[in-house]
Amino acid sequence: MADDRRPSNDDILPQSSDQQLTTNDRSDELFMEAALRAAQRALEIGEVPVGAVVVCGAEVIAEGWNQNLSGNDPTAHAEVMALRAAGAIVGNHRLGDCDLFATIEPCAMCAGALIHARVRRLIYGSDDPKAGAVHSVMQVVNHPQLNHRMEIKGGVLAGRCAELLQSFFRQRR
Ligand code: ZN
Repeated sequence: MADDRRPSNDDILPQSSDQQLTTNDRSDELFMEAALRAAQRALEIGEVPVGAVVVCGAEVIAEGWNQNLSGNDPTAHAEVMALRAAGAIVGNHRLGDCDLFATIEPCAMCAGALIHARVRRLIYGSDDPKAGAVHSVMQVVNHPQLNHRMEIKGGVLAGRCAELLQSFFRQRR
């Protein structure tokens, strides 16, 4: 990485040895902010507020948000919408150089789509104890009998990702 504007370690606080935020953590949070903005778009049209972005070459190349209700489409989850848009932009059904950021742990359908796309990294916000297919309910991503391995990082801005969903369901009760 030839980025001479990268902050030195002195700029990264706190300096406690094992809880230090790396530049990678910081950029993950920035891209999760983009996924949260996509989730906001779902909220604005009355959909369950889940958002996702596809990042390639340190840039957001595609975004998606839940459109199941408005599209009468059971497959229109944020992650699938983002992957479809990214595939069209890259011009390939494989997205091996891309990372996907989602505000919640992907379900089994979306986890399957991530594997088909050969996504490099999956970064998500809060766990989904009802449908999560990374570890909460089942393990589809990095299943031992599937070939594709992706790097997984959960819990990025988890509180804000969960709060968006919780406030949505509170208002609907
Ligand atoms: Zn899904």
